[in-house]
Amino acid sequence: MADDRFHVYDTTLRDGAQQEGLNLSVADKLAVARHLDGLGVGFIEGGWPGANPKDTEFFRRAQTELDLKHAQLAAFGATRRAGVKAADDPLVAALRESGAPVVTLVAKSHDRHVELALRTTLQENLAMIRDTVSHLRAGGQRVFLDAEHFFDGYKSNPAYALEVLLTAAEAGADVIALCDTNGGMLPDELAEVVHAAVQTSARVGIHCHDDTGCAVANTLAAVKAGATHVQGCANGYGERSGNANLFTVVANLQLKRGFDLVPPQALADMTRIAHAITEVTNVTPNSHAPYVGTSAFAHKAGLHASAIKVDPNLYQHIDPAMVGNDMRMLVSDMAGRASVELKGRELGYELTPESTKTLVGRVKDLESKGYTFEAADASFELLLRDTVHGERKRHFEVESWRVIVERTKGGEVVSEATVKVHAKDERIVATGEGNGPVNALDRAVRLALEKLYPELAKLELVDYKVRILEGSHGTGAITRVLITSSDESGEWATVGVDENIIEASWQALEQAVTYGLLRSGREV
Ligand SMILES: [Zn+2]
Repeated sequence: MADDRFHVYDTTLRDGAQQEGLNLSVADKLAVARHLDGLGVGFIEGGWPGANPKDTEFFRRAQTELDLKHAQLAAFGATRRAGVKAADDPLVAALRESGAPVVTLVAKSHDRHVELALRTTLQENLAMIRDTVSHLRAGGQRVFLDAEHFFDGYKSNPAYALEVLLTAAEAGADVIALCDTNGGMLPDELAEVVHAAVQTSARVGIHCHDDTGCAVANTLAAVKAGATHVQGCANGYGERSGNANLFTVVANLQLKRGFDLVPPQALADMTRIAHAITEVTNVTPNSHAPYVGTSAFAHKAGLHASAIKVDPNLYQHIDPAMVGNDMRMLVSDMAGRASVELKGRELGYELTPESTKTLVGRVKDLESKGYTFEAADASFELLLRDTVHGERKRHFEVESWRVIVERTKGGEVVSEATVKVHAKDERIVATGEGNGPVNALDRAVRLALEKLYPELAKLELVDYKVRILEGSHGTGAITRVLITSSDESGEWATVGVDENIIEASWQALEQAVTYGLLRSGREV
């Protein structure tokens, strides 16, 4: 179990799940919890049992299906309703019966919210806090309190906000997390309020939203002012602009401030964990995310590339390996010889000056036609192999393909693709159907090849991006397609360019399959 002197508290499954478009099943929540435990967070808030059936089920299943090594589960809920006893409130009972060792109670600390939203008296709000905290404590659960709208409340009525804090602490709450619920605070003013709260006898935590782009900065400022409990969400998920990104907070505190929050080997797995969670949430990862983004340590080559080659530390704030990331060089149209050489070495190829020169020429030529290799690492590697080894071995040759898009009588639009390929001395004709032409082509080509190359069954098309590029010198617009594919061990991206969107897609698809075969150990 983690050290109790400083808490890393994750609220992805409750507050993070408020993000628009984010929908987590109970199985998803269990999977995210396992990933967070792998990172070594101290607490995982699982949701609001009693108020939300899915969350009730999460806590029920967690008892048998989660084998947490580091983290403790926290159940989230409100203080009792006005005018009833905590012991008689069914929602409080659900928290008691959740099986979670920790309960985090949300309570109002802003006088106007008490009167206008809760529609009760300031005194009754304090009684609700006192009664609910001591009731749960008596039942053996640890209690934290989320003081909602604390900062705005402090501005409106500082004495009352602090009274809420003290009432909870005296009733037995271990931590009072000060919440910047509207996310409007800036670090300096927030730190002053945290400082005032820390002067009381209560243990103070911090919960920030990113509406001013300061959630992480505010969290760090609160820690500096004396908070010893930080809340945040994986990948900064959350409603509006999101919550404080827990990964950034942890990396900053551990690598820049010397806190010992998670095991170093777990921190070195953070990039993988951050991406694994995006697989579960099905939210496209932010490539520019601090520490864990695929671009976080990537340099647009050219100017700096020769210097980076001499000493990478001149151009990065930490060793990316500490968070499990790496310095992925982007091959761009500015790419000079040094960056191509470096990228080649990163991929495990020693390039001769002669082949470097050829490769730089080919990259520049293709980029002038609309190709991009910044995001299409797999296409770059295939190009590099062609340059180094000469024309690659073909595991399949395409004779032809054809796609039909049909709008049926019922108004449904369906696509059907037929591909004719030659592979291992066989001529194979296969047909695939899909909701779009590329989907149908993908199915058809894999159907054709899967019998001969069974590893292709694991290949999956995970992302498809289309961009229309302006034509030049009187030519029409051209289409660039980027396809991201995955197998069980990772992802790769390929690019195709043509005036025709389906031909561009086909090029990217063909390379995706070729690269998939290369990854599975086939020589290409
Ligand atoms: Zn919140």
